[in-house]
Amino acid sequence: MTKPRIVIVGAGFGGLAVARALRHAPVDVTVIDRHNYHAFLPLLYQVATSGLTAQDVAHPVRSILRSLPNARFRLGEVCGADLDARWVALQGGEHIPFDFLVLAAGSTTETWGNQSVADHALPLHDLEHALAVRNRALSCLERADATADPALREELLGFVVVGGGPTGVELAGALAELKRHVVPHDFPALEGAMRVWLLEGRSALLPSLPPRLQAKALLQVTGLGVEVRLGALVERVDPTGVWLRSGQRIPARTVVWAAGVRGEKLAEELGLASGQSGRIAVDETLAVPGHPGVYAIGDLALLKGAERLPQVAPVAIQQGQAVALNLLRTLRGHPPFPFRYHDKGSMATIGRNRAVALVFGWELSGRIAWWAWLLVHIVFLVGFRNRAAVLLNWAWNFFTYDRGLRAVVGGNPIPDLALQRSEKGDASVARC
Ligand SMILES: Cc1cc2nc3c(=O)[nH]c(=O)nc-3n(C[C@H](O)[C@H](O)[C@H](O)COP(=O)(O)OP(=O)(O)OC[C@H]3O[C@@H](n4cnc5c(N)ncnc54)[C@H](O)[C@@H]3O)c2cc1C
Repeated sequence: MTKPRIVIVGAGFGGLAVARALRHAPVDVTVIDRHNYHAFLPLLYQVATSGLTAQDVAHPVRSILRSLPNARFRLGEVCGADLDARWVALQGGEHIPFDFLVLAAGSTTETWGNQSVADHALPLHDLEHALAVRNRALSCLERADATADPALREELLGFVVVGGGPTGVELAGALAELKRHVVPHDFPALEGAMRVWLLEGRSALLPSLPPRLQAKALLQVTGLGVEVRLGALVERVDPTGVWLRSGQRIPARTVVWAAGVRGEKLAEELGLASGQSGRIAVDETLAVPGHPGVYAIGDLALLKGAERLPQVAPVAIQQGQAVALNLLRTLRGHPPFPFRYHDKGSMATIGRNRAVALVFGWELSGRIAWWAWLLVHIVFLVGFRNRAAVLLNWAWNFFTYDRGLRAVVGGNPIPDLALQRSEKGDASVARC
């Protein structure tokens, strides 16, 4: 007898949780992802600021699935499906049939319809983004060190992070540490000249934390030298800076947009995206209404009645485990269970010895929160090699105040057009 075919789209936190929970079940599992690696997104900001390398936070999916006897991997981007005929289509035209489908394709950056943001700000949502931010930041420092034009230098040394959630706070803190500990050694002429801005539209940072921790986070991040602007709404981004609705302009060649997420475009491609968030509405058992045997989980799913559930890894993991259980119950003819989220807390690190955390209702800040943050991230990282590499890099960064790889690999990503405006050359001089 053929075993039920379970197809999981996405090898992120949610998709892998489903595959792992089904490891002993009498089913055939196929995990499809457009990358051949699982990326540990919570540490992307460290890749973006040279604290870690891309390899430290990525793990091959095939090696993760190796220990799951009933699972196999397919590299490919799902771009369509017939949910009644029960297949998904990969780019290139191949169809993969399924009996049960779990959509776990995650999310992407939300630009709120602002085309200038899409054109000129850098997202931070996958490994390529993190490398692009790193290249931009390092290239700006190199160029600033070489230019005599004060206006251009100010733009090159301006770093703006938009969005005061955990990603924005962590990235701004890491950039500020780069300014304090690395720039003075690598670029002595630039010491003190780099500026890091953190813009947040609301009246506080880290909206998911209690007000006392929000206030502490603000103190810690400003203590590092980050210029925080609360209630600051971005009107427009251009290649040379950010315009606020208040009329203020902040000169910056590096603008990172961390102000919102929306469902991956797959939801739209399948005609399942609901509302403005672009996520797939699911019922309380995580099933997609009207499509028996089809589920959505993690960042891609919008759970009815629990719309305010955060788009974080623990939600995706718990939903993955819940879907695996419901799928097996369905196969056995039992009714599925409704999903309940067990919230163990949230945390954000701001820099060396600085963090805020809400853990099982306990409010922690400073050094103890920082250690809790380190511990949680090491535990959740996939793979022994990654854990060892990250620990080694962190120890190196901590004791030497240095950063790892500061190589610009992949070209100079500063928009050249804008540079030429300020760096016009003499027409009689031959240029390469
Ligand atoms: C910069 C950043 C920092 C974060 N920090 C934290 C944190 O500190 N703590 C925390 O709990 N959460 C954090 N999050 C959120 C957390 O990473 C997400 O909530 C979590 O990854 C969601 O899991 P998922 O399985 O739904 O999606 P993901 O983990 O994003 O996985 C989705 C997978 O689907 C694949 N995919 C997408 N579309 C397709 C397609 N069409 N075909 C094939 N494959 C596809 C992708 O390649 C990816 O591997 C952070 C997110 C970001 C971006």
